[in-house]
Amino acid sequence: MPELPEVETIRRELVPLISGKIFASPLLHMPSAIEYPDSEQFSAALTGQKVLNIGRKGKYLIITLDHGILIVHLRMTGNLLYTEEGPPEKDRYLRLSFPFNDGSALYFSDMRRFGRVWLVADDHELQEKVLKRVGPDIFDEMDLEKFIALLGRRERVMLKALLLNQGFAAGMGNIYTDECLFRCGIHPRRRVSTLSRSEVEALYKAIRAVLNEGIEHGGTTFRDYRNARGTAGDYQSKLAVYGRKGERCRCGSPIEKTTVAGRGTYFCPLCQVEWTATEKET
Ligand SMILES: [Zn+2]
Repeated sequence: MPELPEVETIRRELVPLISGKIFASPLLHMPSAIEYPDSEQFSAALTGQKVLNIGRKGKYLIITLDHGILIVHLRMTGNLLYTEEGPPEKDRYLRLSFPFNDGSALYFSDMRRFGRVWLVADDHELQEKVLKRVGPDIFDEMDLEKFIALLGRRERVMLKALLLNQGFAAGMGNIYTDECLFRCGIHPRRRVSTLSRSEVEALYKAIRAVLNEGIEHGGTTFRDYRNARGTAGDYQSKLAVYGRKGERCRCGSPIEKTTVAGRGTYFCPLCQVEWTATEKET
């Protein structure tokens, strides 16, 4: 599913494509994709609005209009495609069409139907209706000191579960979490309380580096993800552990797959140490 680098890729592409454009009346092929307000209010409120700015928080794409804010969350299989050539042909998963008054349009398609769209009046409503339980963006709103402070409140939590928790920090999903933990050599089952200061710093650096690389490669595509121009990302070819069960790690050991925090988790049993010396003693 799209994670921070995929949503950031879409955001960066959309900035030059739709900034300043004015929405015409949307077509709601599947009105249940609109989470807030109801579909009639949504259509009326969006029509005629100009795109001022395109931001992101975690996996939420946040499009600021002259009166209101349009929010898109792609969830499992959502795609947001920009084109000037009319609706994508034979797309039976097309849920919403957002034409602009110049003939170009954004098309929201979503096979699994979990993706959601909101239209709120202002920042206050954005917070209340959409981002209430969403933590700071792990890429744009997190320096090392803040990361350490937030970790201090979650000492008993396993790292895999912590990084997936959007209330702790927003943006990470299954793929990038596994890659980050491999990069810094920390086992996904380790608990926050067992980390040394240097391990915390290594984890923070790994998160920044892996997310940065994901963005530079236009995101990761396994099946569904496409950027705003319909092209796949290519970070999947750079992944060190995710999806590589049984393949050799650079250390020679086969990569293993297990379940942590209810999610399929890839790791190298040699490179990622599960227990610290101090924890073994207690
Ligand atoms: Zn290894």
